[in-house]
Formats: sequence, structure tokens, C-alpha cells
Amino acid sequence: MTRKLYRLVPVAFVIAALSFALHAWNGAKTASEAETRGANAGYRKFSDESFDSFDTLVTFTAFTRDEAEFGRYAKIVRDEMGRLHRLFDIYHEYEGLINLKTINDAAGIAPVQADTDIMNLLELAKEAYDDTGGAFNVALGPVLAIWHDRRAAAANGVVSAPSAEELQSAAVHISARDIRIDRENSTVFLPYGDMRLDVGAVAKGYAAQRAADMLRRSGLASGIINAGGNVVIIGPPLDGRETWSVGVHAPTDDGDMSKLLDVLYLKDGSAVTSGSDQRYFIADDRRYHHIIDPQTLFPADGLKSVTVLHNNSSLADILSTAAFILPMNEARALLARHGAEAMWMTEDGETMATEGYKRASKVEREKSAGEMKAGGEL
Ligand code: AMP
Ligand code: MG
Repeated sequence: MTRKLYRLVPVAFVIAALSFALHAWNGAKTASEAETRGANAGYRKFSDESFDSFDTLVTFTAFTRDEAEFGRYAKIVRDEMGRLHRLFDIYHEYEGLINLKTINDAAGIAPVQADTDIMNLLELAKEAYDDTGGAFNVALGPVLAIWHDRRAAAANGVVSAPSAEELQSAAVHISARDIRIDRENSTVFLPYGDMRLDVGAVAKGYAAQRAADMLRRSGLASGIINAGGNVVIIGPPLDGRETWSVGVHAPTDDGDMSKLLDVLYLKDGSAVTSGSDQRYFIADDRRYHHIIDPQTLFPADGLKSVTVLHNNSSLADILSTAAFILPMNEARALLARHGAEAMWMTEDGETMATEGYKRASKVEREKSAGEMKAGGEL
């Protein structure tokens, strides 16, 4: 993969909106150059993009003194995201590596030696299973595999939705409580031969959080990682602004990623979006997206997207998926228990947000200031 390194210096009034829809986002690349002043003098903004982890575009932006310093941080992000991608991969084997595919393949056969990050992730996922009443379920793998295969077939022109019977017959051993984690011996065991893990709903958030923690420990004071809609922030931008401006892309029916639903003003923590427009296929005029309600085994109804704000990106990732599935009152209670904030967009395009989300939201701030301009630039 070719390395692209952009040297960028922002102008204070340019909103470097780091869109969740990064395909569309090129704000930083087009930002014109200016020297940072005052306490931030000598810092410049750089950005690095890669597409080799989690099937998604990972963009890392940071303020550093020079390109060489930025390159060292960018390498940390690429290396850590790549390492965790291989570890959490359920589709591919890598020579000499024990990953989640190894654990899935050994289901019903034997415990498998597991990396600490696999055990940490699965422990978190098991807690989330109980915490969300089973809505968030990494042991839903056998059912998710059916949906995954239908999406792949549809991409090749063979379009059909699975039947309820087919899904039910795959959903025999789908309790995350059955995942056996043995910390003493560092092993993970799936006790039934038909158990399968799929950590797609938390892997990116976990990896982005890990990478951000490493950056902080390595001395980075100001940066932002966006792994396909999982945004983690490290300190304020060093260009005089108090907050970063993080674009939330508007879910659309035609896959157009260029429209923004909102801009969030954030100086720390994480913002994660789950959306029905991310991965889907259409059969019989119905959109079958990738977030599956374990109660029905079909795509969760009612919403287009949920964006969650939380200090920790692993949790924000878990909560965004769970809030997409759960009824609104249960989702609100879950988020409140974790001190998380959120914005929901219904299938009809209506939006609802918690108070903390509203305080960070450009759209909500303008609404309350009475100066919302329809069609105005965000
Ligand atoms: P996210 O975009 O974080 O909401 O995660 C969606 C991904 O999580 C899907 O592509 C599946 O791999 C997986 N997934 C779907 N439904 C569930 C569920 N109910 N619990 C856990 N993971 C799920
Ligand atoms: Mg998620």
C-alpha cells in the first residue's frame, strides 16, 4: 500500500471537518497554509490515510513540529491498527498468528492460546452482552455469517434474503456467556462446534482506542484518528481552536457519503456512528443492512443511524451498535448508565439527541440560537 503523507497547515477559520464519510472528506487536504501562532507556534497539521485495516479508510491527523515526528506517530497508528485487524480477523489466517479465525475453527475441539487483546476484547464483549440484554452479541457469528454471505452474493448479482427458518437453524449456540476465557492459561474456548465469534461491532473502536492510548504514551499532544466512523481524539487542535470539528455524515439511500448531517465540536473522547447505510443489499425492495437484532435475527428496524459520544472508543462502538438495536427507552437507559451521549436518526429522517450531544452539536447550537439556516453551510 502506498503511503500518502500530506503536510497541512490550517487557517483558523477553516473547519477541518473530519467527516465520518471520509471518502467525501478532503477538508484538510485543501486547507490553505498558515503558521500557527502564540503557544502553538511551530506546530503544523499533517494527515495520513491508509486502507489496510478493518476494510475501512483510517485517517490520522495530528499537529506536530515536523513531518518526521508526524511519520513516527503515523507508523504507530498503522502498525497497531494492522496488528489488531489481523488478530480480530475471522476470515483470514496469517502465518504464525493465532487469531479469532483460529478460535472459531477450534470451536468444540480445544481451547486456543490467545493474545491479551483477544481476551480483553472478549471480556468486554461478554460484559456488554449482559449489559445490553443480549442485543450486543459477539457470539451471533453463525447468523451474521449468513447475512455476510448474502451481501457477498448480492454484490455478485445473486440477490436473495435468508428465510427465518435458515436463520433460526443457525442460531443454536449464540450465547456470549458460553465463551470461555481462561486468564490463568491465556486460552479462549468455544465449547460448541457450531459457535462462531464476530467482533465487527467493537473491533474498530477497540483498535482506535488502543492506537490513541499508544500515541498519548508516546508523547503526542494533539491528534485525531478516524477509523471508518470510529473517531478518537487526543487533545485539542494546536491551531488556536478549542475543539476539533468532526463531521457526522448524513445517512443516504444512494450511498452518497458527501453530505454532512452535523458537525461535532469535540476536544477529547470518542464519537462512533452505526448506520444502516454502511453495509447492505436490497432484495424485494427491502434494504437488508448489517446490524442484526438477535431477537428477530433480521436487520434492526426503525433507525438510519446512531452516533454515540463516550470517553472510551471501545464502549462508544459497543453502545452505538446496541442503541441501534434496542428500543429507544432501553437505549437511553443504557447510555445514561455509561454517561454516554447520543443522536438517533429514524428511518423517516427525524433526529433526536441527548442533552450532552446537543451541547457538542453545531446543528443543535444553531437551532437553539434561532439561526438555523435551511441548506446553510455547516
Ligand atoms: P457497527 O457498525 O459497529 O454497528 O457494527 C456492525 C457489525 O457488527 C456488523 O457488520 C456485524 O459484523 C456485527 N453485528 C451485527 N449485529 C450485531 C449484534 N447484534 N451484536 C454484535 N455484533 C453485531
Ligand atoms: Mg459498533
